[in-house]
Amino acid sequence: MPPKVKAPKVKVEKPFTYERNLQSKFKFGAHVGMSGGIYKAVTNAMNIGGNSFALFLKSPRKWVSPALKPDDIAKFAELCKQYNYNPRTDILPHGSYFINLANPDPEKEAKAYDSFLDDLKRCEQLNIGLYNFHPGSSLDGDRQQALKQLATNINKAIKETDFVKIVIENMAGHGNLIGSDLKDIREVIELVDDKSRVGVCLDTCHSFAAGYDITDEEKWDAFLKQFDDIIGAEYLSAIHLNDSKAPLGANRDLHQKLGQGFLGLEVFRAIANCERLQGIPIVLETPVGDNDEIYGEEIKLLEWLEGRSKDDAEFIAKRDELWALGKKEREEQLKKFDVKSKKRAKEEEKNGDITKMVKKRKAGAK
Ligand SMILES: [Zn+2]
Ligand SMILES: [Zn+2]
Repeated sequence: MPPKVKAPKVKVEKPFTYERNLQSKFKFGAHVGMSGGIYKAVTNAMNIGGNSFALFLKSPRKWVSPALKPDDIAKFAELCKQYNYNPRTDILPHGSYFINLANPDPEKEAKAYDSFLDDLKRCEQLNIGLYNFHPGSSLDGDRQQALKQLATNINKAIKETDFVKIVIENMAGHGNLIGSDLKDIREVIELVDDKSRVGVCLDTCHSFAAGYDITDEEKWDAFLKQFDDIIGAEYLSAIHLNDSKAPLGANRDLHQKLGQGFLGLEVFRAIANCERLQGIPIVLETPVGDNDEIYGEEIKLLEWLEGRSKDDAEFIAKRDELWALGKKEREEQLKKFDVKSKKRAKEEEKNGDITKMVKKRKAGAK
């Protein structure tokens, strides 16, 4: 028997699970993790075959995080170069969730602003050109004042940074929440001094939950037309791709995998064939648990949808297959939605009765 020869230790780089499609005209990507160092996001994006990606710049649930390490910043730049990601156009970080620049409490507003500015500075350290965040809530304060305050903070942050574009994401909720109505976003942008430094990210789930029906190509085009009329085509800077677990107008922010929610696959086919979206990051935020790798499948699905018509037999089969997969969850959510709607209607009726009573009393007192 020949003597056992110990193989020399060679560091073999793990091949990427999904191959990146550079032929695609679109920058389909996903929100990837960055644990172990911010530069890990770049290889995580490569691993799912993303042509763009999103990431958090720090722990999204902590107010203060340690500064980026110079070594990590250098590695991030190196990997972007090696794998051909342009950080100015292909990366869309997501801001911390609790940042509320419209908070009527000045102390809390200042704390939010510090975290916001810190995020933007991190972008510029990494040479990242876009930054997405939630416009926040007026809470118990005056709504007009809140919109003004948000714009003032954006103006301030623009002056304190050099190039990063501040991208406002549209929202699903209602009430005090800002940004579910496209008109809110227009009002804020109107008050921004340097309009070249502000943009908008449309989240498909949020749009639908906010009441904009985008379930087929015609409706999607009509929605974009509305966007252009209200906000302006030049401000569309990114897309978040999510199906919706909750029905149209439910005001719930519940992301679902593509094709399995109330949106269905058709709108994603429309997006994968919507020419004006070529060149901007189109980022998946669908539920994957802790396993980012699953995004690779949805990116491949989107690339497969490119060039397909709605009458394509393979598309119809895929659409129906995914729709069937989501059936149970849609039914559960629909039940919840019905209970809630009835409750809401009852409350409104009750409030209506009280208003009538008060009016009657006032009229009687005259
Ligand atoms: Zn978001
Ligand atoms: Zn989103």
